[in-house]
Amino acid sequence: MSDHKRPLFSRRELFAAGAAAFAFAGTGRAQDGQYDLLLKGGHLIDPKNGISGVRDVAVLDGKVAEVAESIPASKGFKVVDCKGLYITPGLIDLHVHVFAGTNERGSYAGDNSLYPDGYTFRVGVTTVVDAGCAGWRNFDVFKDTVIDRSQTRILALANIVGNGMRGGRYEQQLDDMKAGPTAELAKKYPEIIVGVKTAHYGGPEWQPVEEAVKAGEAADIPVMVDFGSNLPERPLEVLLGEKLRPGDIYTHCFAGNRREMLEDGSVNPGMFEGRKRGVYFDVGHGGGSFKWSVAAACLKAGFPPDSISTDLHIGSMNSGMQSQLNTMSKFLALGQSLDDVIKESTWNPAKEIKREELGHLSKGAIADISVFTLRKGDFGFVDSFGARQKGNEMLECEMTFKDGKLAFDLNGRTRQNWQELDLHYGRQGDPRWDGILNRQRSGGGRRRR
Ligand SMILES: [Zn+2]
Repeated sequence: MSDHKRPLFSRRELFAAGAAAFAFAGTGRAQDGQYDLLLKGGHLIDPKNGISGVRDVAVLDGKVAEVAESIPASKGFKVVDCKGLYITPGLIDLHVHVFAGTNERGSYAGDNSLYPDGYTFRVGVTTVVDAGCAGWRNFDVFKDTVIDRSQTRILALANIVGNGMRGGRYEQQLDDMKAGPTAELAKKYPEIIVGVKTAHYGGPEWQPVEEAVKAGEAADIPVMVDFGSNLPERPLEVLLGEKLRPGDIYTHCFAGNRREMLEDGSVNPGMFEGRKRGVYFDVGHGGGSFKWSVAAACLKAGFPPDSISTDLHIGSMNSGMQSQLNTMSKFLALGQSLDDVIKESTWNPAKEIKREELGHLSKGAIADISVFTLRKGDFGFVDSFGARQKGNEMLECEMTFKDGKLAFDLNGRTRQNWQELDLHYGRQGDPRWDGILNRQRSGGGRRRR
């Protein structure tokens, strides 16, 4: 903890000094040759770079500046002891519902969604992908009221339904599923929209999937499918073997609701066929889409998920799903390695949405970093159907850094004991590394991606 020896500016002083203070900080940075933040002694798991071992990680100006077996503590403006902890790229939750705030009842473009910041940083998630809450008709509202105002990095899949997930009345309307305007929307916001979603369809037609793929082709982005009702007219084998393109994503892959597992307990051969063709398989746990028997059968058959995601919404947040970390811990309980579970929550989802600047800690990468404890003990995990699986490991988030700035700190590991401070201590932290107490706020709260 090297920064407490430096002169501390109170928040008021910093604001009063305005740009001059930040200019000073910038100059000091260049002169002192120090990194803003140095995480020392943790076990880094960075699957993209094939790293699983003790490494120090240094951050400067929101980017990863250096990763090495040992970086001297003197090179860090802020040094955080991470001995005994795991360090990973900020987690990416590939399937959430965060279009809250419209007050629409029974709607994922409303009351069924959650504002993300209270569900992300405290479990190590720095990026979420909203899975189709909005379509081309209401995306601008979503962007203005949630995406631009949240601290969490929010990417989105545009629903092929123009009205998005506003409920059955809207989502079953074939004539509101249009590739043209959906692709136009995606091209208008390439920094946010990373794919097209089709979901919840209850009819026998292939049109929702076909139209979504058409939009995906036009905008050169993947399609994620929630395959809706299980109907003999559109079997899973045809979806995975013919309709989806390589790079498209099948979510709710361990739900068991659409014959992912056959009656005899074997994995549907169509799943293997889809994977061979390059279709990705995403967990999307949710309130009804993760079943122990299906997940266990798939893992036993050598069919792990490509990505682990929550399908976070009001119906899953306090049920078996709970959080990204609870969902990841479930795969530890089923025998997956920690390295694999981290890969399925960082680099793999980044690749699926073609956002390869995320999900790793290469030099120069965005410094989204999560720090975990792997707790050992007697734990239990619950699926979407209310069945339990015992486990003896549970991931717990210690700290989360977004763009190199502290966003969550469970045990105050970045903080000083108050007894060591002046009796009349002021606001702690420093804008160089602290995004909680020293966040720069602009008038409208608008943020860039
Ligand atoms: Zn969903």
